[in-house]
Amino acid sequence: DELGPTITIGEILVEIMAKKQGEGFSEPLDLTGPYPSGAPAIFIDQCAKISGNAGMIGSVGDDDFGRVNIERLKKDGVDTSAITIDPLLPTGSAFVRYRNDGARDFVFNISTSAAGNIIKNRESESLIASAGHIHIMGTVLSIPGAWPLIEYAVEKIKRRGGTLSLDPNVRKEIKSDSVFSQRLSYLLSKTDLLLPSDEEILIVADTDDFDAALKYVFSAGVKEVVLKQGRDGATCYHHSGSVNHCSAFEVTEIDPTGAGDCFGGAYVGCLRLGMSTPQALVRANAAGARNVQFIGPMEGSASLQELEMFITDTPRRTGCK
Ligand code: ATP
Ligand code: MG
Repeated sequence: DELGPTITIGEILVEIMAKKQGEGFSEPLDLTGPYPSGAPAIFIDQCAKISGNAGMIGSVGDDDFGRVNIERLKKDGVDTSAITIDPLLPTGSAFVRYRNDGARDFVFNISTSAAGNIIKNRESESLIASAGHIHIMGTVLSIPGAWPLIEYAVEKIKRRGGTLSLDPNVRKEIKSDSVFSQRLSYLLSKTDLLLPSDEEILIVADTDDFDAALKYVFSAGVKEVVLKQGRDGATCYHHSGSVNHCSAFEVTEIDPTGAGDCFGGAYVGCLRLGMSTPQALVRANAAGARNVQFIGPMEGSASLQELEMFITDTPRRTGCK
């Protein structure tokens, strides 16, 4: 049967940001938001804008924070039929403040919100039954109730010839949890495309050596690693040995949150449109770079046409190989 939409399962949040840099939230602050957010939601929004064929499984509360998200995802072409509206719990949220050195302080409400209450129902089953690709964000592994549904979806989609991408989004403190690392190993064994940052691939492989880390993930079954390198762009390593690097676009970074998610959504969206690795890589780089220019993690997601314009208009450090 035909391979349908790209889907993801995970948290849908609003993000509320302190307007001024500094430490934490221990005094009254000027805030801006709510902005639609949640790593999987940002990914799928960008992916839908590129490929027009994407859906999400998640949960929001019966409140304005939930409606802000659903309306945005719908407007950008995401199939929201499998997003449930929880009658009791509020929509998940993240309060963020940037420190002067670029680090971030967070106050999260995820596992005790609707975002932590992702359920399997007729709508989610039917989206999974049609899906051709599933993207998993490591953040969802910390949501207690989501795992059985993820396993179910991964098995179904892979069995019918679909593919899986994984953005580990992992921190050292989380990886030391044994349930988390078991789940990560399971996912790696099913992953076609891994989208880590420089640091994350080392954490996933539990080594300090990049070449050893690459070897480890390829031997686990990964076919392609696309390394996100921030201001240094991105590099694709294929298990066959081919390497493609793409240098970064020169932009002024205003709000870096969401760059990695937009990068991934654009990369997967382009691949699923049938583009080559270099074609997808330059567009994903553009999606990440464009996104850091906007306040709000999902505000900079772009259509293919906007990406083409951005690529034409924006200088780069060196050419794309
Ligand atoms: P996050 O998880 O915080 O969203 P990430 O660590 O997953 O981010 P990054 O490497 O920060 O991912 O960003 C993804 C991609 O976006 C980079 O590979 C690059 O192509 C682009 N990008 C990010 N920041 C910049 C920047 N300051 N200038 C140019 N391009 C950038
Ligand atoms: Mg990331």
